[in-house]
Amino acid sequence: MKIVLLGAPGAGKGTQAKNISERLSIPHISTGDIFRANIKGNTPLGLKAKEYMDKGQLVPDELTVEIVKDRLANPDCEKGFVLDGFPRTIPQAEYLDSVLGEMSIELDATLLISVKDEDIIERMSGRRTCPNCGASYHVAFNPTKVEGICDICKTPVIQRADDAAETVLNRLETYHKQTQPLISYYEKAGKLKTAEGADAVEETTSRVFEALGL
Ligand code: AMP
Repeated sequence: MKIVLLGAPGAGKGTQAKNISERLSIPHISTGDIFRANIKGNTPLGLKAKEYMDKGQLVPDELTVEIVKDRLANPDCEKGFVLDGFPRTIPQAEYLDSVLGEMSIELDATLLISVKDEDIIERMSGRRTCPNCGASYHVAFNPTKVEGICDICKTPVIQRADDAAETVLNRLETYHKQTQPLISYYEKAGKLKTAEGADAVEETTSRVFEALGL
């Protein structure tokens, strides 16, 4: 299946993309993860992306679309993929349509994980991430087994710079202005499915699987 996940930052796209990717054995493609890997590796793309990410703004489309095009051309995407965090603007969605058109591929579904702003703020301020393996936790809802230490690779977890309170508000504003219009874009294309994402992770996962017919 070829799937796009939509939703506000902190709605749980990363967690659900991972679940879908494991269930269907398809790659999970996160532009945010690609940018973070570039920042970690001090690449020119990483340096440019960081300026925007730290402020809660979107990285410009021209820096973003090419990395997705390259990634989709990888043979592991032939069976399908789950895109997490891309597209985030109407031009990115149009670009994706044209790239997929060139590859004679059609999206099976765009799934919106719907969570209210106040729940997002609570969630993101408590989010902790492993800088080594990328695992995601929450101090209250999904804590690490040993406080502050990643369960998987035992690295101390951190708060992502862009999860700091003022940046979260900027990211939400950016989401409403630039990404929310994609909901009607995909609705008009007859591709939109929605799963409520405010409850516990397991409940959201069942709703996500049900919405996608998995
Ligand atoms: P994420 O991990 O998906 O929440 O992404 C973290 C940050 O990376 C976002 O706040 C943006 O600054 C940047 N980013 C990720 N994906 C995109 C995209 N498709 N377009 C522009 N910026 C992006």
